[in-house]
Amino acid sequence: MYTRLFGRLRGELVASAPHRMQGASTPNMGRLVMKFGGTSVADIERIRNVARHVKREVDAGHEVAVVASAMAGTTNRLVEWCREASVLHDAREYDTVVASGEQVTSGLLAIALQAEGINARSWQGWQLPISTSEAHASARILDINGTELVKRFKERSEVAVVAGFQGIHPATGRITTLGRGGSDTSAVAVAAAIRADRCDIYTDVDGVYTTDPRVVPRARRLDKIAFEEMLEMASLGAKVMQVRSIELAMVHQVRVFVRSSFDRPEDIDPHVSPPGTLICDESEIMEQQVVTGIAFSKDEAQISIRRVQDKPGVAASIFGPLAEANINVDMIVQNVSGDGVTTDLTFTVPAADYERAKGTVDRAKGRIGYERLDGATDVAKISVIGIGMRSHAGVAANAFRALAERGINIRAITTSEIKFSLLIDAAFTELAVRTLHSLYGLDK
Ligand code: ASP
Ligand code: MG
Repeated sequence: MYTRLFGRLRGELVASAPHRMQGASTPNMGRLVMKFGGTSVADIERIRNVARHVKREVDAGHEVAVVASAMAGTTNRLVEWCREASVLHDAREYDTVVASGEQVTSGLLAIALQAEGINARSWQGWQLPISTSEAHASARILDINGTELVKRFKERSEVAVVAGFQGIHPATGRITTLGRGGSDTSAVAVAAAIRADRCDIYTDVDGVYTTDPRVVPRARRLDKIAFEEMLEMASLGAKVMQVRSIELAMVHQVRVFVRSSFDRPEDIDPHVSPPGTLICDESEIMEQQVVTGIAFSKDEAQISIRRVQDKPGVAASIFGPLAEANINVDMIVQNVSGDGVTTDLTFTVPAADYERAKGTVDRAKGRIGYERLDGATDVAKISVIGIGMRSHAGVAANAFRALAERGINIRAITTSEIKFSLLIDAAFTELAVRTLHSLYGLDK
């Protein structure tokens, strides 16, 4: 079964839908991917704990592929070493170095599984292979060959332990990595390739919450969230999973279950649904709330271009150079000109790119034509997300009123079908999030 991601695989997965399991943890499922993040494999004791989680699923009769991250802190250290060796280092060698963290944990986990009496084998990205683009340090998965894994499930009841985060660019034969947090994407891609019934993400939180519980203690864990909503949550600040992994799950309809790796495997009753959040197709969600969650990010900066000429080609002359500089522009708000000559244009960029973005616009000033550049980095973006917004009017208007009552000024607003985002002063972030969380009935 050699399956092509982004193309052929999609149809195949849809065709395989009938054998998908029903509930979040119905016993007697078939095939599982279990992904463990860095804190879950941080030392040998925790790796043993992971091995017992895997054993639990194997004993329940499942075919299992495990995807492992590097030990917590390891990738940071490897990245730092590359920087120390040379600030401007070769991205191919960076990948050679940073991919090693997952090589270690995949091998250790295979050893720990064998010690539990389980047949297990580790797989590096180049061995399967997991073929990727050549974009070193942020490669995209193109193909995964799951044939050998499936064969070994059947013939030897062998657990596959796949190193996350890494792949190979076939034409050059070089090791690649998928960008920070990329083992989530590895896990979903492996799940798609072997047509797993579910991809379990074991992590240091026990699911996806309506918002960050550190900011809103009354945040609730969601039982289910739709792919589209999760994609927005992840893109807009919730750090549970790599954004690309959700895109992939959505395209290939891979059901993803986020759960805690700190539960002791011995304490888990196989007949009871474990706590966690299922990320799934919206058709699987019975009671859809209007608002599902609230994401926020303080890593935003605002740039306003004052009295910019109001004529065709101006937006292109601003955002073209920013795109070339690889700066991600998010909210864009342009006023309709009053005098037909000039207008104001505001947009946001990641705070880390603020200076670079201002410099880029400044250098293009001759072509753009404007009077002044204003900016602010003490801003935050609050996003309200819910598929139910598609069929409900006035959801955003309620937020405007509630924030006004708290004296919170809104600098910019953008909306889409299933979310709206507000740019406010960073100092009001917590107050705004709490206010909206209560307003939409999300408090527990
Ligand atoms: N170890 C890699 C990182 O820290 C990949 C991952 O953990 O998902 O980014
Ligand atoms: Mg992670």
